[in-house]
Amino acid sequence: MNALAKLDHRYVWHPFTQMRDWLRREPIVIVEGHGAVLRDIYGREYLDANSSIWTNLHGHNHPKINTAIQRQLKKVAHSSALGLANEAASLLAEKLVKAASSQSDHASRVTHHSPRNTQHATRPALLTKIFFSDDGSTAMEVALKLAYEYTRRTGRSRQPKFLSLEGAYHGDTVGAVALGHIELFHKAYSGLLFKTDKVAAPYCYRCPYNRAKPERADAREYRKCNWECVDDLEKKFASRKKKANPYAAFVVEPLMQGAAGMIPQPSGWLKRAAEISHGHGALLIADEVMTGFGRAANAPTLFACQQEGVQPDFLAVAKGLTGGYLPMAATLTTQRIFDAFLGEYHEFNTFFHGHSFTGNQLGAAAALANLEILQSGASIRARCSLQITLQEELKSLWTMPNIGDIRQVGLVVGIELVKDWGTREPFDLRERAGIRVCEAMARRGVLTRPIGNVVVLMPPYCTTRDQVKQMVAALKEAIAEPGALTTG
Ligand code: PMP
Repeated sequence: MNALAKLDHRYVWHPFTQMRDWLRREPIVIVEGHGAVLRDIYGREYLDANSSIWTNLHGHNHPKINTAIQRQLKKVAHSSALGLANEAASLLAEKLVKAASSQSDHASRVTHHSPRNTQHATRPALLTKIFFSDDGSTAMEVALKLAYEYTRRTGRSRQPKFLSLEGAYHGDTVGAVALGHIELFHKAYSGLLFKTDKVAAPYCYRCPYNRAKPERADAREYRKCNWECVDDLEKKFASRKKKANPYAAFVVEPLMQGAAGMIPQPSGWLKRAAEISHGHGALLIADEVMTGFGRAANAPTLFACQQEGVQPDFLAVAKGLTGGYLPMAATLTTQRIFDAFLGEYHEFNTFFHGHSFTGNQLGAAAALANLEILQSGASIRARCSLQITLQEELKSLWTMPNIGDIRQVGLVVGIELVKDWGTREPFDLRERAGIRVCEAMARRGVLTRPIGNVVVLMPPYCTTRDQVKQMVAALKEAIAEPGALTTG
């Protein structure tokens, strides 16, 4: 085992990892990356098929982001946002507001059907204010705290409650965990958490109303859907009508739920869900930590909400904000929320929250370069063609008996492994089917991580057709490898 791997084994505790398994084998030690390729200490090359856990957008060592960071480094790496403004964060705030507000044209067309919600119905709220933080979890904590306090201050509720989707994952800090509903991750901490409600996600492949029809591999269409899951959402709000504590907010990952297992929302679902929650006077918190910056929307659209003309009250972004270079996050919100925290000093209306690295200059410089690249014609064309390439290359997987469903939204793909596509019987998590397949893919030079039985493909935007072919071939071979899907 090489010296760096030994150091890792001796000292490092890895996230979401059974360390006993980890310590059994030599880890891949990454020392370099260029474009979609990562290189390890032995010079072996791997395709970064999940963009380093959904963060990297344009590939590694991108000259424009490198240069932006180097330039900023010559000026200053960091000064505090507590009491000081800085050049890079101010410029970035303006750019982000502009990028997010291009959805206002759509949003003004959204009709909120409930007469009770005159505020939302008459004034589509633009995202005009930005609170910077460090990562997806902190961006969600900020949205959560602001929504909570705003709801209390405006007198809507003294004990605001939150509603999120079945299988939701919004981060690992305690508030974000409370918004989540993944039993496996969250159960251990239930004693630490405040209670939140959940509502069914539109998981069409395993729809409890049994709409999906997988019987023929070449015709996996869905039976006519009656939107029962949307009715369930409406009922959640309606059942609380007479109580004094309605939901402060509905929290959602727009278009595609990531860590839940890559669960896409059928076209129109998000818009209807937003109308229902706004219609009942609840705020909408859009967690675009995974979906943002062109990941889940069709190019040139940057945010998943924009694709459906939905205007959230909070938009949380992280991962791809810096092109996947540096830990930086942002929570965008409206003037109305901001104004509720204004007051004289002695009134102590201040939002008492912040982090040491809030508004960090290196991160902001990388994020500015990232936005510039994203808005360039070359990047828009690359995203369009990668989306089509993925669609085309993944088609051949449909005939494999262990592949139940292939779910693609934009540049995010989840491939659900099953014991048999005819019955859709899932593998027991203890069988480690997803892990085994991903380990077999790594042996073939393709790196990704499963979510349970779902293999994720989320390549950087610079990935070529040949590289996509290599990813798909590795997956096919991995599934066929003796021992990968069988415990023997
Ligand atoms: N929200 C979503 C939708 C995520 O996918 C993640 C991370 N996978 C988070 C929040 C938390 O982000 P972070 O790991 O940067 O704290």
